[in-house]
Amino acid sequence: MKAEGPAMTAPLPAPDPLAPPLCDAQGRRMTYLRLSVTDRCNFRCTYCSPASWGGKKDLLDAGEFERIVSVFARMGIRRVRLTGGEPLARPDILDIAKRIAAVPGVEHLAITTNASRLESLAGPLRDAGVTQLNLSLDTLSAEVFRRISKQGDFEAVLRGIDAAAGAGFQSLKLNVVVMRGINDAEVPELVTYAHARGITPRFIELMPFGQGTPVPTAELLERLAASGSVLTEEPQESAASPTSGPARYWRMDSGRVGFISPLTQNFCGGCNRVRVASNGDLRSCLGGRAQAPLHQLIRGGATDAELAVAVRRALGEKPEGHRFTEAGNGATLLPMMGIGG
Ligand code: SAM
Ligand code: SF4
Repeated sequence: MKAEGPAMTAPLPAPDPLAPPLCDAQGRRMTYLRLSVTDRCNFRCTYCSPASWGGKKDLLDAGEFERIVSVFARMGIRRVRLTGGEPLARPDILDIAKRIAAVPGVEHLAITTNASRLESLAGPLRDAGVTQLNLSLDTLSAEVFRRISKQGDFEAVLRGIDAAAGAGFQSLKLNVVVMRGINDAEVPELVTYAHARGITPRFIELMPFGQGTPVPTAELLERLAASGSVLTEEPQESAASPTSGPARYWRMDSGRVGFISPLTQNFCGGCNRVRVASNGDLRSCLGGRAQAPLHQLIRGGATDAELAVAVRRALGEKPEGHRFTEAGNGATLLPMMGIGG
């Protein structure tokens, strides 16, 4: 007869912190990493750079970015965006792009840039494996450009955008931050400018990081309709797709047009994004605070598994959404330049 007693079960192996999926506290699956490669910039846009923001020298090197991306890719990240500051201000940007594009698991490598250095860099970036560029341009007037971007070189930006349009990227977008009384009247012209170059324009509601008054997306849609455009809303991409982002798109005869509406249509519900700031701190939310000092951990000799544990712990605290619209919240945030938008 068999002896009665407590059933013997082997202890379960500890879960591998590097194994996908990478989920946040709300159960949202993270597939998209935004990496700020510098907090320095050759422009000083009024909405981005507070006067006191001096910037420091770049902290992480190309090998450290590659290491961070490879840990995230093992955890399920499929799309990476390099931003800043101005990512093309880094002299080693081609090396960074080449290394990240070659990380197994990375399917899309994008860069957000002010376009001022693209005349010479568009082709080499494409050859390095960059698949998508987001180009920032808020106006077609040299005078308004000077008011917004201060030290920026307008002609170099226009030449850079034309170089990007001819370089064969999979996707090009034009980011326009809309400010009342500054550039809001230019929306139809900016749509025409972008579509003429095969670029998708996207109009962004100004977030409270600097100066200026935002214009709600609904008002821009009404104005475009009033100027004779027929707009049909596209179905939203599933949040599970690594290519899905915060923009909503409409179709017009001449092409697509996107709107990013952090203030009037909170985009946090479908969030699939994790951010690493230019100092190497993981930020689980644009409106949140530093949570995992990845750079310090790397320099301290952390293993990939230890980095993955720190990432999971930080994402365990990821809030449901930013709180830009709450009184006083904008003032306490890290400047946009350090997080990269
Ligand atoms: N220097 C690059 C550029 O300008 O494209 C990349 C960094 S920039 C911080 C990334 C994006 O954030 C840009 O498209 C910029 O227009 C946008 N941005 C900056 N400050 C913003 C704000 N206060 N509200 C909304 N978008 C902002
Ligand atoms: Fe520089 Fe881009 Fe910020 Fe303008 S928006 S100051 S170009 S980082």
